[in-house]
Amino acid sequence: MERADNPAAPPGQSSIDLLIVGGGIMGLWAAVHAERAGLNTVLFDAAALGSGASGGLLGALMPHMPDRWSEKKQFQFEALVSLEAEIAALEAATGLSAGYRRSGRIVPLPKPHLRRIAEGHSRDAEAHWRHGERRFHWHLRDEAPVGEWVDPASGESGFVHDTLAARVAPRSLTAVLAAFLRNARHVRIVEGTEVLALDAGQGIARTSTGDIRFGRCIVAAGYRSFPLLDAMTPGLQVPLGQPVKGQAALLKAEVDPDLPVMFRDGLYIVPHEGGHVAVGSTSEDSFAEPFTTDERLDALVAAARALAPCLGHATVVERWAGLRPKAIDRDPMVGPHPDNPGLIALTGGFKVSFGLAHRLAAAAIGLARDEPDAVALPRSFSLANHIAVASHKS
Ligand SMILES: Cc1cc2nc3c(=O)[nH]c(=O)nc-3n(C[C@H](O)[C@H](O)[C@H](O)COP(=O)(O)OP(=O)(O)OC[C@H]3O[C@@H](n4cnc5c(N)ncnc54)[C@H](O)[C@@H]3O)c2cc1C
Repeated sequence: MERADNPAAPPGQSSIDLLIVGGGIMGLWAAVHAERAGLNTVLFDAAALGSGASGGLLGALMPHMPDRWSEKKQFQFEALVSLEAEIAALEAATGLSAGYRRSGRIVPLPKPHLRRIAEGHSRDAEAHWRHGERRFHWHLRDEAPVGEWVDPASGESGFVHDTLAARVAPRSLTAVLAAFLRNARHVRIVEGTEVLALDAGQGIARTSTGDIRFGRCIVAAGYRSFPLLDAMTPGLQVPLGQPVKGQAALLKAEVDPDLPVMFRDGLYIVPHEGGHVAVGSTSEDSFAEPFTTDERLDALVAAARALAPCLGHATVVERWAGLRPKAIDRDPMVGPHPDNPGLIALTGGFKVSFGLAHRLAAAAIGLARDEPDAVALPRSFSLANHIAVASHKS
């Protein structure tokens, strides 16, 4: 890899080991791992750090169902378990809080057949949700485990209480990562600079403030990664991914921040610190206005007030919309480009980026250091797999 003579030189004059495109949750974690690895790195964000989908409100860290165990579920499980210590280390280094808590999750079971399914999940969790001495559970309860929080009538056939789920405050976590990086020795952050095009063969990025040479490039530009990668991939029948709009709201309510996340039919209710409760999210494949909210969010807030009666009169203090990166094969998209191995994708986290980003980014940095086995990734996550699907080859 190329070494920079002057890592602090402005773009257009410098040559660096690693270029990271995008300062959302993916790019920020990649930059943290690059700093630890001592890689001479520049991170460009077209706007400001955390101003994309990662600047939202919800921060639910939800495990997959524990049935039909797979390498993908194992990867996610280990990521969810390890995130706690990763965040604690950064909080200790920066003195800031990310608003993380393993508060668990409640899922009401309105029908008897759902209870039978949940009994199976409970056994599956006992078998698979194990990490060293640690055990996490998919408990089945007749009564809601926290009475005042959930409408008892919502769980005619009982309630699931899972103890693996957690939550984090998205803006607080991006602020912790950004604060860590502002004192970095090897990573330089450049906000307000857009990467317009990449020539991975030559190792040159054209940016809105000049050209820059790089040894490796990690593309972590959220949904805007897809056109950058499409442009370098001949033979695609369809784009490598698409944006999916989501809307969420923040309510002010004096509820215990330790209360579990609630989930039902795509509705999340996430208690945070400081008397805030987040409610989300819509999932919209087509939309005219990417960043506005509408009556779909009103409906979600109404559903949340019904499920958690203590939110009945809670004031809505913020409404927010963002665009999630959904890769063509739905799973995250991480790995080297088959034709240009110096180019590494780190995107496609769709609805689960916050629980996985630290491990996906560690894998991307392993690839950038020519250590592809540093973190093993599920095969379906690879950029090569997504390219095959978008080329209709699989
Ligand atoms: C309403 C809603 C609720 C959600 N809830 C959850 C949840 O509870 N749990 C969860 O895990 N996930 C959730 N998500 C999904 C999660 O927010 C996203 O998957 C995640 O933020 C994506 O992170 P990212 O770093 O890939 O992209 P982003 O956060 O979008 O970051 C991309 C960055 O790249 C920059 N950029 C773009 N193009 C360029 C360029 N050409 N040059 C330079 N910079 C560029 C942008 O300015 C931006 O800062 C939710 C999303 C929405 C919309």
